[in-house]
This record gives sequence, structure tokens and C-alpha cells, in this order.
Amino acid sequence: MKIDLGGKTALVTGSTSGIGFAIAKGLAEAGASVILNGRAAARVDEAVARLRAAVPGAEVKGVAADLATAEGAGQCAARVADVDILVNNLGIFEPKPFLEIPDADWLRFFETNVLSGVRMARNYLPKMLEKNWGRIVFISSESALNTPVEMVHYGMTKTAQLAVSRGIAESTVGTGVTVNSVLPGPTRSEGVSDFFARMAAEAGVPQAEMEARFIAEHRPTSLLRRLASVEEVANMVVYVCSPQASATNGAALRVDGGVVKFVA
Ligand code: NAD
Repeated sequence: MKIDLGGKTALVTGSTSGIGFAIAKGLAEAGASVILNGRAAARVDEAVARLRAAVPGAEVKGVAADLATAEGAGQCAARVADVDILVNNLGIFEPKPFLEIPDADWLRFFETNVLSGVRMARNYLPKMLEKNWGRIVFISSESALNTPVEMVHYGMTKTAQLAVSRGIAESTVGTGVTVNSVLPGPTRSEGVSDFFARMAAEAGVPQAEMEARFIAEHRPTSLLRRLASVEEVANMVVYVCSPQASATNGAALRVDGGVVKFVA
């Protein structure tokens, strides 16, 4: 199978690093014209240059906007009127015991991880339906299915994304537009790598040992037994965005290294 996204424009939210950057790179390698997003203009410019260098000849643009806010979503809509592919990747995580999570954190997590994608889908779905082709992908998590005790508020947002994406897919009946979720397992993005580096420094052990301990103690059902790479996650997303994935709609697709034990 050869994936050709030539002529398609893709917007990946929160894509100056991590899984988002890898998805943007994968889409660019498949021929899509790609729009990167982050909050700070300097970081977006740097990521655009990095992607252009990594995929020579790729058409890459950037839009700096804080998509965790309604204002940022409006700024993005004003600068990018139309896309064929929308990947709602932006997301934050922070371990915190349930009893210490205040209302403000619950609301911040909901707005950043869920409402951001809702706003973006509301922006771009109408034109996709008009053109009768489009792809919307929500980057959820295995935490959607296995709520993590160390961050219940994060798990809540990831489960909500499944409901939202399935619900939006219901309004694409009989069209060439699909709306799906992808559920990565623990993945070595910059954010996660920094997190393990800090934990390893505190415990006085090498980072690799800290990562192995995390998998053994917190994700003991992992079949992969290691963190996934960002490219492994991006490959699934590029496929879901491809013309070949036309019969996959309203689905929750796992790249979780087998962490989730049930099969349906
Ligand atoms: P990351 O922290 O490494 O990168 C997130 C990116 O989003 C960064 O470029 C950051 O600058 C940007 N960003 C943050 N807030 C923003 C905002 N308000 N507006 C615009 N950009 C913003 O994250 P990651 O680990 O690559 O995770 C990406 C997605 O994958 C998230 O939705 C996360 O929940 C999901 N996920 C990650 C893992 C994992 O183990 N890494 C596992 C499952 C799901």
C-alpha cells in the first residue's frame, strides 16, 4: 500500500514536538501540505524549519495560537480557513492524587484536552462535508479505557474524546468524511521523556531504568514492554488519514503496545 496525500492540507494541533511533530512529519512524507501549531511563534517557526529540513520539498506552514482557549481557536480559524485533515493532538497530562485535584484543574484539563478538539472540529467539519472528503483524528490514549489512578482528570478527558469523536462521526453518514480516535500507550515524546528524566534524577537511577520500572509497576499488562516511539504512533495516524482508510469511521484505534487487555 502506498499512501499518497498529495493535494491534501493537514493541520496538526500541538505539533512543535512529540507525537504531534511526528504525525506532521509522517503526513508531510506522504505528500500532504502541513500546518504546524504551538503557542509561541518562535517555537512554531523553529519547528517549521526543522520539518522542512527533515522532509525536503515539503510544504510546511505554522500557526501560533493557544488552542486551549476560545480566542486561540478563533485566531486559528482566521488564519487557516480550510483543511482536509485535522489531527487534534494537543493534550496535557500531570500526575496528581485524586483528592488534590481542584475544580480549576478539572476545568483546565477539560478545556485543553477536549474542548480544544471540539472547537477545531466545529471549525473545519462543515467544509469537509461540503467537499465530501475529510479526516478528523482525536489523539486519545489507552488512559481512555484504563483510567489512571495517578491522574483521573486526564483519564476523564481521554474517555470524553472517544465519546466526542464517535458522536461527530454520526454526522458524517454516507459521506467521504471520517472521524476517529487513536489511542497511544506510553510513548517517548519529549514531554514524557522530560517527565522520566526528572523522576530518574530524583530517584538517582538511569532514565532507562525509571522507564522500565514505570512499565513494570504502572502498565504491567504491556505486551510491548517498552515505551513506543513517536513514529510508531504517527504511522497509525497517517494510515487513518489516508484515502485507503475510507471504511474506518467512528472507531477507536489502539497503538497501546497491548496495555489494554480486552479486545473489543
Ligand atoms: P508533548 O507534551 O510532548 O507535546 C505536546 C505539544 O503540544 C507540544 O508541542 C506543546 O508545545 C504543545 N502544546 C501544549 N499546550 C498547547 C496549547 N495550549 N496550544 C497549542 N499547543 C500546545 O505531548 P505528547 O506526549 O506528544 O502527547 C501528544 C498527545 O498524545 C496528547 O494528547 C497526549 O494526551 C497523547 N498521548 C500521549 C502519550 C504519551 O505517552 N506520550 C500516551 C497516550 C496519549
